[in-house]
Amino acid sequence: MEKIIAVDGPAGAGKSTVSKIVAAELGYTYIDTGAMYRAVGLKLFESSKPLTENFLAEIVADIDIKLDDKARVFLDGHEVTQKIRTPEISKLASDISKFGFVRKKLTDLQRKMAERGAVIMDGRDIGTQVLPNADLKIFLTASLEERARRRFEELQLKGQLEDLNDIKKEIALRDKQDTEREIAPLKQADDAVLIDSTNMAIEEVVEKILALAK
Ligand code: C5P
Repeated sequence: MEKIIAVDGPAGAGKSTVSKIVAAELGYTYIDTGAMYRAVGLKLFESSKPLTENFLAEIVADIDIKLDDKARVFLDGHEVTQKIRTPEISKLASDISKFGFVRKKLTDLQRKMAERGAVIMDGRDIGTQVLPNADLKIFLTASLEERARRRFEELQLKGQLEDLNDIKKEIALRDKQDTEREIAPLKQADDAVLIDSTNMAIEEVVEKILALAK
């Protein structure tokens, strides 16, 4: 039977890596909701204007965000898949994600995308807000040290040398903002299965989710 799987957790826990593999294994659609918040952040960034509630509302009113079946991200018709993966946009995505009108716009879109079922969606509030009736909810986490180390290695592979401590600070700040915001904070749903991947390989996490999905 085709299901809806929700995966939430802090930054850098491996949600998207794992969700993509699970989606491929099950023939499901993978929906990266973080990419949608990042697209809003990018639109603000490219306007070169400071973040004010009024201007953000203007941006969000007519924004066009699309994800295709290859997890490519399109903002107002242009592909921005790589552009949204910078530390500046990570921070901006978190900054704009506290506004209720931004969350409402993206939540509505996310629910529509999940309507046809057979989806695995990752984010911060999928199990608690976006898809509270999901068939399976996962809360994927790992220690801050491990998450920072993984991000460091990921960037190193791409030839980007960042300071491990800076990465750690950036992740910790984003987690704090995401956990402490008033609307739809990062939180494990009561009926979510907690997976701490600190000492697990990607394949182990995938196997565990696939077993739970059966
Ligand atoms: O998952 P990712 O790190 O790409 O998300 C970027 C930011 O978008 C998060 O730090 C969070 O502030 C926001 N976000 C959110 N709700 C979601 C997904 C992401 O608030 N469902």
